[in-house]
Amino acid sequence: RLEVRNLVRRFDGKRVVDDVSLSIAPGHVTCLLGPSGCGKSTTLRMIAGVDLQDEGQILVDGNLICDTVFRVPPERRSIGLMFQDFALFPHLTVGRNVAFGLSGSKHEQRERVVELLDRVGLLHFIDEYPHQLSGGEQQRVALARALAPKPRVMLMDEPFSGLDNRLRDGIRDETLALLKEEGTSVLLVTHEPEEAMRMADEIALMRDGRIVQRGAPYNIYNAPADREAVAFFSDVN
Ligand code: ATP
Ligand code: MG
Repeated sequence: RLEVRNLVRRFDGKRVVDDVSLSIAPGHVTCLLGPSGCGKSTTLRMIAGVDLQDEGQILVDGNLICDTVFRVPPERRSIGLMFQDFALFPHLTVGRNVAFGLSGSKHEQRERVVELLDRVGLLHFIDEYPHQLSGGEQQRVALARALAPKPRVMLMDEPFSGLDNRLRDGIRDETLALLKEEGTSVLLVTHEPEEAMRMADEIALMRDGRIVQRGAPYNIYNAPADREAVAFFSDVN
């Protein structure tokens, strides 16, 4: 479970993230929705540990991983990342890409890599290099790589935006199924209303650093809190 309590980040005196709290159960997806510049990526960066909050706490499975004085380094937070521009390592094979963040014996690493590549249907590419794969295939390898160390939490910032529409639906569904199977708590940033409706258990609407409304996708769709939310959902049917 991911818990974020009263997170604040200031840049030049402005509260870019302003008292954000979230709680995401294992196997659940919360979708952070909001206009450009409202503080979504900044929130994710603090949870990932690559930026430090000015106030607030972050907990994973009840353990404090970061407050303003105590800080677990990013690689020890049990948090996986999938960002749009988070490319595979071009000089490593698909198998080595997936094994990258793994510890344990060579045999254990190999088992986990095979398990995940098989799960995303790409085991036959294990010894190929990323440039030999399509964009959608690379995305699935990136998912396998992010999940390999069994992170308790997955942070995704527009992870599917580089894919064409036809590919995207399949990869979204596959990603969601795999994250649910693994029991990962997911925080997903997206600009796509259908993506939010399709993937989220809960939607959190963000404006100017604050969460202004949260709830089940269907409830938010039926009763959006403000005009921007209405506009956002107007092209979903
Ligand atoms: P987008 O949808 O465009 O990705 P976002 O919601 O992810 O937007 P953030 O990247 O979190 O927005 O940025 C929120 C605000 O914080 C913006 O006004 C941005 O200019 C500001 N900001 C982010 N990082 C810094 C920084 N390192 N120094 C100063 N200002 C910053
Ligand atoms: Mg962003």
